[in-house]
Amino acid sequence: MKHNTHIYLAMKGIEFLYVGLGNLHYPRSNKKAASKTITKIRREGKILQRMLMHYKDIISEASWAPDDILNDKSQYHTFKLFTEREFPQSSSFAKEIHKKDYYRASGGGGLPYKVDHLARVISDMDKLRRYNDRCTMQQIMYQYLMISHYIVDAHVPMHCDLRDDPPSAKDKTKPRNGKYYTDKLHGQIEQLWENAVNPIAIKESIIEVKRKKDKKPPNALSKQIRFNVTNSSHCDEIKPYLISERGLMEYMIDLCIQTKERSLLLFPINDPTNWDKQIFPEMTREIFAQIISNLISVWIWMWGRIKSFNHFMFEDIVFSYMKTT
Ligand SMILES: [Zn+2]
Repeated sequence: MKHNTHIYLAMKGIEFLYVGLGNLHYPRSNKKAASKTITKIRREGKILQRMLMHYKDIISEASWAPDDILNDKSQYHTFKLFTEREFPQSSSFAKEIHKKDYYRASGGGGLPYKVDHLARVISDMDKLRRYNDRCTMQQIMYQYLMISHYIVDAHVPMHCDLRDDPPSAKDKTKPRNGKYYTDKLHGQIEQLWENAVNPIAIKESIIEVKRKKDKKPPNALSKQIRFNVTNSSHCDEIKPYLISERGLMEYMIDLCIQTKERSLLLFPINDPTNWDKQIFPEMTREIFAQIISNLISVWIWMWGRIKSFNHFMFEDIVFSYMKTT
């Protein structure tokens, strides 16, 4: 994603934090959490929301830092998967296999590992803050906003698809019996999202007008990326998950697999460069709603590690077991 899209989405994650948690679900069963659990977690979500709002001046820098300051794009902003469907008999190129069918070639990025590790480091920072005051709340909130970058990138189809990286003539690490798409598409599609976001983000004072060309009116795609916290049907589209203490890495890998599947729809296997412009607007909506939801899911996971409300999961499971027996 591009600069302003990252800022816009981080802000939407904060705006929807409290409302979104009202629709909290469990990742395995896809069942809604019990209302008692939701009430308790929402109370914490409200505190976190206020805290993030307090530091909202740093969103712009923190949510973009991984791209220009840390510059770890090729290592950690992607998880380039391939399957036998687009590259038949290519399992020998797999350095890792996920869920039996999803292969990762060498150098295919470690996005889920980064999110899992960074999220644990951030919640540890808060433990240290409480113990010996070594980390400030500002430093911790900076990291909350910074991790948003990696979470957002996990939803970009091109970031989870090996076909986005055609091999050079010398490269022997990637399969060749299938089709890659032209590497221009990655930037082009992200620019379509950025152009849709800019007028809305300016109108909502999330970003500032810096150049004359920023003052364009909303385009046809803008309505797909608009999420207003006072609109109840927009709120219904936000569906965060209560991830277990040990489940974050698996959750992120599953998310990258979902993103890969979206990429197979957007860039058809037989002719990937001829991408599907018909499904693109609806898919944009789905992707943006899922991003906002998952910012909330991971943020509340980090916050919950300190507050240790992960035991609610257990309570809920026991409760639903008792009801069914
Ligand atoms: Zn990035």
